[in-house]
Amino acid sequence: MNDAAPLILLIEDDSQTRRFLKTSLANRGWRIAEADCAKSGLALLKSEQPDCVILDLGLPDMDGIAVARRLRQLSDLPVLVLSARSQEQNKIMALDAGADDYLTKPFGSGELHARLQALLRRVARSIAASETFETGQLKIDLARRKVFIAGNEVRITPIEFRLLGILVRHAGLVVTHRQLLGEVWGAEHIHDQHYLRIYMGQLRHKLEVNPARPRYLLTEVGVGYRLAADGS
Ligand code: CA
Repeated sequence: MNDAAPLILLIEDDSQTRRFLKTSLANRGWRIAEADCAKSGLALLKSEQPDCVILDLGLPDMDGIAVARRLRQLSDLPVLVLSARSQEQNKIMALDAGADDYLTKPFGSGELHARLQALLRRVARSIAASETFETGQLKIDLARRKVFIAGNEVRITPIEFRLLGILVRHAGLVVTHRQLLGEVWGAEHIHDQHYLRIYMGQLRHKLEVNPARPRYLLTEVGVGYRLAADGS
């Protein structure tokens, strides 16, 4: 990342949304490079070297999922996709194609900042390779494979730990059902969503004060799960 304020590449054809994003990002002191189609967005990716990309899935010149895939081929940059309510399926496909998180339009600037901060932290975290994750009362020691709530160790099975490990790597960001199932159980189980319901249910009983109203292990309806991180 640059020493200067993070540079966000904004690929969005709707000028009104672009204006809103620009104002809202500039208010935080973040810098913006903007493109109104996929072609100029991909060109700016090379010339401007942004820290993060905000990608609208409904662009005039290229399919949003193809753009998400292309961005992932070209770089390891965090990508936040913007989707309309009518594009639920596209949003999931874009996440599976390598995008890191999404916002559904319309969204507020508070939500936008929380998502971007989680994204930029993901980058900082992979550089620091931090081995302990903490949020609220929850502490996960990745190196020693131990989990604590308010300082007390909680017994976790190996599969539960693998699920937690993936969520920690993406702390504050959504992880799709497909990603979780593929990484924990393998490609042949990517449609077995009941595995996740069972194991996430068990984890919530172990880690949440009120499993019915989770504070750490959040459900993203129809998409996946998100581990809450401070500020997300
Ligand atoms: Ca659009």
